[in-house]
Amino acid sequence: MTKRKKYVLLTFDLEEFDLPLEFHEKISSKQQIEISRDGLNELLYILEKEKVLATFFVTAKFALANKKLIKKLAKNNEIALHGLQHSDNYRKMRMDEMLSRLKKAKKILESVAGKKIIGFRAPKFHVKKVKMLSLAGLTRRDLCRWSRSLPADQSKQTAHA
Ligand SMILES: [Zn+2]
Repeated sequence: MTKRKKYVLLTFDLEEFDLPLEFHEKISSKQQIEISRDGLNELLYILEKEKVLATFFVTAKFALANKKLIKKLAKNNEIALHGLQHSDNYRKMRMDEMLSRLKKAKKILESVAGKKIIGFRAPKFHVKKVKMLSLAGLTRRDLCRWSRSLPADQSKQTAHA
């Protein structure tokens, strides 16, 4: 009996740190970006040292504030969309508004990353009508659907991480 190799797929959200706002605490946009960037730099130190690849779900807002970092990450890792900004609640938006924001976000992220973006994870998993995502050229990346939605070359690359 042959043993099947087991793999772990790592994913991280890269977003402006807006959590304090949910608890009515003040935090500037600049601080939100800095806190997340600092965390990312610590994470990258470990991932690069261990030669581990991952998928990063990135908000367009974070990408615009960290263009060089995102471009660098995109060279070896998968970059996927995490919305226009992390405070977006796509569940509460009208469908046309949601699609318009997602298309805009996708365009920004593709421009910063320099590659096509297909994966999507909604901020706080707030999404409605998953089928509508295809209208924005996106695919939801639920963990259970991952292996089926990951392109073969990226699956191989990530699996070797
Ligand atoms: Zn998130």
